[in-house]
Amino acid sequence: MIPFVDLKAQYHSIKEEVDAAVLKTLESCAFTLGPEVADFEKLFAAYCNNTHAMGVNNGTSALHLALLAAGVGPGDEVITVPHTFVASAASIYYTGAKIVLCDIDPATYTMDPAALEAAITPRTKAIIPVHLYGQMADMDPIMKIAEKHGLVVLEDAAQAHGAEYNGRRAGSVGHLAGFSFYPGKNLGAAGEGGAVVTSSDEYARRVKMLRDWGAERKYEHVLKGYNMRLEGMQGAVLKVKMKYIEQWTEMRRAAAKRYDDMFAGTGVQTPKQMENRRHVYHLYVIRTPERARWQEELTKKGIQTGIHYPYPVHLLPAYEDLGYKEGQFPHSEKAGKEVLSLPMYPELTGDMQAEVAEAVTALQKSLVHS
Ligand SMILES: *Cc1c(COP(=O)(O)O)cnc(C)c1O
Repeated sequence: MIPFVDLKAQYHSIKEEVDAAVLKTLESCAFTLGPEVADFEKLFAAYCNNTHAMGVNNGTSALHLALLAAGVGPGDEVITVPHTFVASAASIYYTGAKIVLCDIDPATYTMDPAALEAAITPRTKAIIPVHLYGQMADMDPIMKIAEKHGLVVLEDAAQAHGAEYNGRRAGSVGHLAGFSFYPGKNLGAAGEGGAVVTSSDEYARRVKMLRDWGAERKYEHVLKGYNMRLEGMQGAVLKVKMKYIEQWTEMRRAAAKRYDDMFAGTGVQTPKQMENRRHVYHLYVIRTPERARWQEELTKKGIQTGIHYPYPVHLLPAYEDLGYKEGQFPHSEKAGKEVLSLPMYPELTGDMQAEVAEAVTALQKSLVHS
């Protein structure tokens, strides 16, 4: 069997360090925030080439608190894309602002700057470009549009730790960024975790308050805050993993390169890494009009695959009330029907990939000749 991800392989490669870090936290009893979280935040901010990182309880909270820190609330509109994990849109809903969608560029699966510009109204307050699958959105035109209209840009970098755009790291281009440390992400906690990254002292101060009941000092509640702190144990585990994140990212990139080489000339529609970007391959996503059959055939051969994501936000029952109709975001809708994620994780071997590539190439041939 070739698994889609293998979290055990990573854990066992650093088990002694992780176990020691967890035990140390248990001894210290610094269970929520605390010194390990503070150390991790420093390392992670530096990794993003930025000033501040604030650990929170998950990636969704990171997006939510970043929007609140930027002053987003009822009466505002925030623009994001339909082809994403639902959390990108949900974070807008939590603030009371209105979710506005714009379509993606089908080559990169990220926000189309022209569609973004067309979606702006006098009520627009912020934009959430999503660095989907590990490749950053087209940030130069997005930042230019934002500047022209005075909008806040929040990067949804939940899948893009270490990704780059013109040499600039994810988390250092927008005004704020939200990261997730969900176990399956490129940098995963031993449970839930997330972080807001920013260069703004004021945004950082507000996020620190908002995650901890809106208080700058105990019981002095300045803002209406939340309990969204990162746990000490997660900080300790993430701090250990910071030593390896670059190595793991390069292993993912090498695995993606091997897939690219194996699929060269086969007609399989492989992911496109844009020239000015460092793709960190959270997912390796191909596309096919016969996805259901391909997935079934691959499953029969013991090859696990995933679909990210089958339904665009505007077609989800939960977001019916946004009032969008099928056909409004054709690139997102088509991607939802065709994308297929192949096994991808740092420890994936060339032999396993050869097996995957052989099976996928055979399916592609049957497609061409049918
Ligand atoms: C995982 C993810 C999130 C949410 O992160 P959680 O830690 O699961 O809350 C948000 N946006 C995208 C694109 C994601 O992949």
